[in-house]
Amino acid sequence: MTANEMELVIGLEVHCQLNTASKLFCSCPSGSFGARANLNVCPVCTGQPGTLPVLNRQAVELSFSAALALGCKLRDVSIFARKNYFYPDLPKGYQISQYEEPFSTAGALEIAGPPAKRIGIHRIHMEEDAGKLVHDIGAEELDYSLADYNRAGTPLIEIVSEPEMRSSEEAFQYLTVLKEILQYVGVSHCDMEKGEMRCDANVSVRPRGQQEFGTRAEIKNLNSFRNVKDAIDYEFRRHCELIKEGGKVVQETRLWDANRGVTEPMRSKEEAHDYRYFPEPDLVPLEAEPAMVSRLKSALPELPAAMRARLVSSYKISEYDAGVMTGSRALARYYEDCLKDSGDGAEAAKLAANLISNELLAKLHAEGVGIEKSPVSPAHIASLVALSKNGVLTSKGIKEVFAKVWETREDPAGLVEKLGLAKVSDEGELTKWVEEALSENPKAVTDLRAGKERAIGAIVGTVMKKSRGKADPAVVNRLILEKLK
Ligand code: ADP
Ligand code: MG
Ligand code: ZN
Repeated sequence: MTANEMELVIGLEVHCQLNTASKLFCSCPSGSFGARANLNVCPVCTGQPGTLPVLNRQAVELSFSAALALGCKLRDVSIFARKNYFYPDLPKGYQISQYEEPFSTAGALEIAGPPAKRIGIHRIHMEEDAGKLVHDIGAEELDYSLADYNRAGTPLIEIVSEPEMRSSEEAFQYLTVLKEILQYVGVSHCDMEKGEMRCDANVSVRPRGQQEFGTRAEIKNLNSFRNVKDAIDYEFRRHCELIKEGGKVVQETRLWDANRGVTEPMRSKEEAHDYRYFPEPDLVPLEAEPAMVSRLKSALPELPAAMRARLVSSYKISEYDAGVMTGSRALARYYEDCLKDSGDGAEAAKLAANLISNELLAKLHAEGVGIEKSPVSPAHIASLVALSKNGVLTSKGIKEVFAKVWETREDPAGLVEKLGLAKVSDEGELTKWVEEALSENPKAVTDLRAGKERAIGAIVGTVMKKSRGKADPAVVNRLILEKLK
């Protein structure tokens, strides 16, 4: 069988850190990435004898909101379970998770493709994170590791997809959409560099047309979407080659080595019974109170896909612009605030989108400033849009005023006045510049007369320089052509 005759099958398990102030079962601060080791620990999250877990209400609400946003069913009653294993990063000797009765099942999300496709979500359950082991400390090879329990007990949800993705590109899109939804709802920051979102990829291949799945490998240690994609592509080739040579894929857990671009066996795949799961005796069953569920449901924000569709239909902007403007919930809010102030109309919507993507986002990115802290406000953008729509500013003038607003936070209309940046459309003034430009560009004039239309660019350019970008290009073009008649 060649790779073309084989079909790739992918299921993803994604862990997301819930955006809570404290840990899942104690009041230690959560999310202490970068903090001094073992600063945020207590007897509960280090598993001291005689301690009892107390479930974090905010973690439950965020978990339920995630499930609702992903169209999942909420189970009326779900059960916490102990997953037992020994590892030095797990002080209790077990992890509190959910097993047979997770809080949520049967959801889906939609990827754009093409073709657009619904990817099923098998289940979502809540669990606590383990601590972190630090190996290879410093330059010398040490024969010991250090344990940091700050992360132990951090609230997570694990989102398990159906094995319904068929290419690494689909897996990439699934993760992109998932992350966007979780961020919109405020469930998680999903910062992969801080380990707030982690992904394991289950990969198998089968001959096209075969119903039954092939044996899967589970790839761990994927800390970017790029790595997920590369690891899946690598596994696909590995499985195909193995099968072509008459070998067999074994079910195992593998690690992705991003430096070498290969996966390596880590351990044979553990089975559920290895963990001796049993219901957590220290926690009561978790009920999904109808009143709480309906409150959370009505508090869900508009989700990114719906928001994009609405922006396209109500403001007539392109799918592309709508995608950029809904890059985050804060940006989407900013954009709509701009439009509220600049009145409706497709032209204003387009101008505002252009200003935001070409000027504002570029500047925010370059300065490392978040949209929430932007010195240029939506009212400033609305005013710039009006100045451009009413023909007061050339496109160069807009850039200049924008830069000044960024520095001074002053009102754009006032700045235009103060800096004398208003567009010049007055024919008398422009004619003088046009005449000078014609005599300074004899070659362009000859070319233009000979029918080389593009030669006009040099002449317009000279006028622009003389006017410091303020000349109205439409009038300048017309004047040049009239003079040469
Ligand atoms: P675990 O990995 O903990 O044993 P599951 O058996 O529930 O958990 O499967 C985990 C993930 O593996 C799910 O996302 C599922 O879609 C995916 N999966 C299961 N079988 C296959 C397969 N043959 N090929 C690819 N993915 C698979
Ligand atoms: Mg797994
Ligand atoms: Zn604690």
